[in-house]
Amino acid sequence: MRLLGTVAALALLSTASAHAAPDLGKMTSGELTAFTKAMPKGGELHNHVSGAIFPETFLKWAAEDGLCVDVAALAFRPPCTPAGDLKTAASVLSNDTQRSALYDSLTTREPGFQGRSGHDQFFSAFGRFGLAGDKRPGDELAEVLDGLARQNTFYLEAMVTPQAAPSIILGAKVGWKDGDLAAQKKALTEAGLDNLVADAMVETDAMEAGARQALKCGTPQARPGCQVTVRYLVQANRIAPLASTFAQLQLGVALIQADKRWVGLQLVAPEDHPSALANYSQHMKMVGFLTEQGRLAPAALHAGELSFKYATPGEMSFHIGEAVHVAGARRIGHGVALPHENGAEALAAEMAATGVLVEVNLTSNDVILEVSGKDHPYAWLRQRGVPVSLSTDDAGILRIDLSHEYARAAGEGAGYADLKRSARNAIAFSFLAGEGLWIDPNVYRRPAKACAGQLGAVTPKPGPCADMVACSDKAREQWRHEWLLREFEKARK
Ligand SMILES: [Zn+2]
Repeated sequence: MRLLGTVAALALLSTASAHAAPDLGKMTSGELTAFTKAMPKGGELHNHVSGAIFPETFLKWAAEDGLCVDVAALAFRPPCTPAGDLKTAASVLSNDTQRSALYDSLTTREPGFQGRSGHDQFFSAFGRFGLAGDKRPGDELAEVLDGLARQNTFYLEAMVTPQAAPSIILGAKVGWKDGDLAAQKKALTEAGLDNLVADAMVETDAMEAGARQALKCGTPQARPGCQVTVRYLVQANRIAPLASTFAQLQLGVALIQADKRWVGLQLVAPEDHPSALANYSQHMKMVGFLTEQGRLAPAALHAGELSFKYATPGEMSFHIGEAVHVAGARRIGHGVALPHENGAEALAAEMAATGVLVEVNLTSNDVILEVSGKDHPYAWLRQRGVPVSLSTDDAGILRIDLSHEYARAAGEGAGYADLKRSARNAIAFSFLAGEGLWIDPNVYRRPAKACAGQLGAVTPKPGPCADMVACSDKAREQWRHEWLLREFEKARK
């Protein structure tokens, strides 16, 4: 029902835009914004849920939950008796100066805020807003889902840390076995790591129930976010002690095998942190070992989120190569440093040939790494046929949305065909289960034989195509996307 509403909205929009073949380069900023918002963008593959929440929402929740704000540190604090720099969140909400300073503190909207670089402001913001979202994982998820649906986008692969504290603690208890990964795994299993799988599933149930409640799913007031399909990527912390990172990854693989909602691994925290740099190769070995290079569970790894500003040329020369060859990663988060890799052209050619996608986050890379425009490898990757898909990374901190990133890409030379490919890639290169509707992902000329000639219809004809769509999560999402795409394009003819 909600989808039909979206289509009606598109039909209305078409009266204002009569271009048959969209030439994004000729659009005004307003046209491009409206166009990219209405365009079905398939899904989002790189989204850290807590970083996707805007500070307006955090402050509202904090006021409802009785939290306090330290107005000197500009960070949330537990409920308190107001005194000195500690104010109630409710009072900060109604104080224009304090509210604005808090929003500055929780986002990157004010360049150079408190003398910090974009990089430092970004990574330190998590510690300042964290408390406001810690007890509201369902509300956070609901915000992200509803935001995507509002942008005509219906698939999300959300990065979440399951059993965050227990997995870190268990790792610390077991200790590091000096790189003997088999012994490490055995020790963690004996220490009860598998018990955390059931706990993580209960935690996921609670998060999803909270999101459904916030979105009023299953009621006549159901919000558009109820229509979004969500899967989760396990975040492991790459700046934790080695034994704890390993425990999080081991839990992740077991969870992916036990629960189809969890579909892949990720490694998070600043890649340029001294301990992340020191342990980088060991982390790649861990992922390769635990996943059997992707055979047991796929991985999408932050790699090459580096620039001269925050890493040495040596450090920029091998991270993506090891993620692909040692860890067996099927997607790369950011990949900004790919042209700096040893044998960059050969690596790019290999990624194009084997279908390793780069999740491109233009605004994030600009703010954090200070790499943008012609310095960003986005065009270089496309020229080499490396699959790419646009995503936001942390929309709330960066104050953007997915449509903004599509518009930004268009402003940096991407054509409509590039944006359309990015949207299709967001499902074809997702870790959704099942066979896809395309034989040639990233090219999209050959649909699966069963569905040839049918893509774009509301429903598949009974028979092999309908059977394929019914049996495959990926095909089902692709089917919906192709229909939305057809409607979107039809509305512009
Ligand atoms: Zn990220």
